[in-house]
Order: sequence, then C-alpha cells, then structure tokens
Amino acid sequence: MYCSHCGKELTDGAYLCPNCGALTQNNVPSNRAEKDSGSPVLILLGLFFPVIGLILLLIWKTALPKSAKSVGIGAWIGLVMQVILIALYLVFIIGIIRDAYQTAMLFASAISMA
Ligand SMILES: [Zn+2]
Repeated sequence: MYCSHCGKELTDGAYLCPNCGALTQNNVPSNRAEKDSGSPVLILLGLFFPVIGLILLLIWKTALPKSAKSVGIGAWIGLVMQVILIALYLVFIIGIIRDAYQTAMLFASAISMA
C-alpha cells in the first residue's frame, strides 16, 4: 500500500508513513470511520422502520455518529411521511362521508318532492 499523503510505498501494517509521518489507514480511528460510513442503506432502514431507526439513533449517537445521523434522517423522513399518509387518508375518508351525506340529502329532497 501507499501513503495517502505523500504517495510513498509503505510496508503492510504500518501505522505511520516513515517519509512524511502521516497516519495510514491501519490506524484504529480511520478503521472505525470506515465502519461508521453513514451508509444510505441506513437512511432507507430509518425510512421504512422509523421506530427501529430512532432506537438505533440513540444507541449509535456517541459510538457511530455518522451512522446515527443517517438512520436518524431516514427515521424522521419516515415519520413525516407516515403522518402525511394518515392526513391524506383522513381527508379521503372525510370526502367520502361528505359525498355520501350530500347524495343522501339529494335522495331525501327527491323523495319529498315526489
Ligand atoms: Zn507519507
């Protein structure tokens, strides 16, 4: 492998570049950063399972901040979408009830005129 800073070839397993002193990818913090990628898959997970997303957000908040942020974004979007869907559903149901009521009134007036 090569130093990401100066490009000099490094021995495998080296933690520091002997040429420029830059940290290599073998260092624990960068390995952890790789694991904490904030993958878009986590946004989808939060989107479809907002409750699980919010639980993971709390668990990961300190150890995996990027992943926690991704899953949190997904969870909030998921929650907002569910609220919007419920609101649309209610508007739809209210519309049907109102139409049914108006139709019934129409019939009632038609019958009383006959
Ligand atoms: Zn270097």
